[in-house]
Amino acid sequence: MEELDELYQEVILDHYRNSRNNTPLPSPDIEYDGFNPFCGDEVVLQLKLADGAVKQAGFHGQGCSISQASASMMTDLLKGKTLEEAIALSEVFRRMMSGQEPSEEELEMIGDLEALKGVCKFPVRIKCALLPWAALEDGITEYRSQA
Ligand code: ZN
Repeated sequence: MEELDELYQEVILDHYRNSRNNTPLPSPDIEYDGFNPFCGDEVVLQLKLADGAVKQAGFHGQGCSISQASASMMTDLLKGKTLEEAIALSEVFRRMMSGQEPSEEELEMIGDLEALKGVCKFPVRIKCALLPWAALEDGITEYRSQA
């Protein structure tokens, strides 16, 4: 990952070493266990909802710095978002991982996630970055199918 911008690397490592929201939530409304067999990454995503919005977001798991940093950044951004907004955010991040340059408006939406932009140049690592997002999308789908 040496080709990644140094500043971006620092942001990623900070989220990896000092992960935000890295605590299990009691009785979450949404829980999804994401696993990336290519790298051995695991992210268990948990969301507590109130009035259709994310009240608390947490994750736990293990894996490479990209997967854990992505989960840390994501859970930070999810708080206060409706499920529709969460899905919209996921779509923006997926587009960035497919190599599309984010717009000004999108950059404002994604915050620290911008640091993962360079990951799109490393196809093996894209799955790591997307792991928590896949868990988010699958978790929301599962939740809605139960409602
Ligand atoms: Zn990984």
